Amino acid sequence: MAKQKIVCVLYDDPVGGYPPQYARQGIPVLAAYPGGQTMPSPAAIDFVPGELLGSVSGGLGLRNFVESRGHSLVITADKDGPDSVLEKELVDADVVISQPFWPAYITADRIAKAPNLRLAITAGIGSDHVDLQAAIDRNITVCEVTYCNSISVAEHAVMQILALVRDYIPQYHLVVNGGWNIADAISRSYDIEGMSVGVVGSGRIGLAVLKRMKPFDVALHYTDRHRLPTQVEEELGLTFHSDVESLVKVCDVVSIHCPLHPETEHLFNDELIGKMKRGSYIVNTARGKICERNAIVKALETGQLAGYAGDVWFPQPPPKDHPWRTMPNHAMTPHTSGTSLSAQARYAAGVREILECWFDGRPIRDEYLIVQGGHLAGAGAHSYSEGDTTGGSDEATRFKT
Ligand code: NDP
Repeated sequence: MAKQKIVCVLYDDPVGGYPPQYARQGIPVLAAYPGGQTMPSPAAIDFVPGELLGSVSGGLGLRNFVESRGHSLVITADKDGPDSVLEKELVDADVVISQPFWPAYITADRIAKAPNLRLAITAGIGSDHVDLQAAIDRNITVCEVTYCNSISVAEHAVMQILALVRDYIPQYHLVVNGGWNIADAISRSYDIEGMSVGVVGSGRIGLAVLKRMKPFDVALHYTDRHRLPTQVEEELGLTFHSDVESLVKVCDVVSIHCPLHPETEHLFNDELIGKMKRGSYIVNTARGKICERNAIVKALETGQLAGYAGDVWFPQPPPKDHPWRTMPNHAMTPHTSGTSLSAQARYAAGVREILECWFDGRPIRDEYLIVQGGHLAGAGAHSYSEGDTTGGSDEATRFKT
């Protein structure tokens, strides 16, 4: 293959410098994903699993591999605005790699300025930061490392469901601030036992959340475009809802796990949130733009929502004055759930596997594909709809100022 230029956008190194001190020595070795999908299988890796790979100096462990094959690799965190390194380097790039945590928004405008671009790899899951319609129209392959961090996110979602219902964060702050007023500490704290918990999207993450919530003795609900096998419904005691309105009306907690695509953009708006039970909780670890920004703020202020948590925002990074940073009764994290040190090892290996295929002219696994050959393909054909959801992403430049 002719020399390829690869532009890789990763988040900044730790403030205290790279490498950081690691809390543990290594990570467990997993044999396969639930359901049997095989783990990423590159010919080799040049990194230590469990080390920080998702920041600029970690470089997804790709540099030696890419350069030894005679290709060039640019790694940058500078991704937003017309003067960014990304925008300058993209003009003659063949491949772009980006993580959803620090997304390189590959808009139609940027695609138009990158005539050589043929492959956009998501180091993670969720390729909505690419204008998929423009990728379809320009015959750019879009792929992601399906399953690499699905369980990581499911664990984070369960943590945030419990954090909201039990009202953990204020209690933690009370202790840190030297207080001990128990009445204050429990004024918004409930048991989840007996509540109704629903997921929107019962794919890899949604199903893993349902399985993890089952032992809490809650009533489990879900909605999805495709129904789960009857055996799974029976084992978990699931109630299926053919539409999201029906689900939100009966649930105390709603956890969102569908991709962001035109069907789901701003799905949780004033109208849908208005149909929820008063005092419900939303956990959104899918994509920030599935929820309408101001509708969430308003619902928390009026008490229609008792709490909101998640780790996904729009855009990313969100400006310093993004109202989700300061709205009441939230338990937000930055977009971290899918980039634990454990997850990074899997998606770094997955990106290497994809690049090995690309350089060797071998097919990329079907399960990794979102767009190929001018249409939605593989996992993308199952879970996405055509179109673009990157509109407004240029607001990410405001983080800098
Ligand atoms: P999957 O593709 O396994 O699951 C997504 C599910 O959502 C599918 O079952 C799909 O349905 C369903 N879905 C699609 N559209 C709708 C809709 N309109 N209404 C209801 N359900 C719908 O992906 P994962 O579970 O692995 O990941 C889901 C999403 O989570 C990703 O797309 C990404 O946005 C986000 N994510 C976030 C991460 C983080 O770090 N916070 C990390 C990883 C993922 P079907 O296929 O049946 O049509």
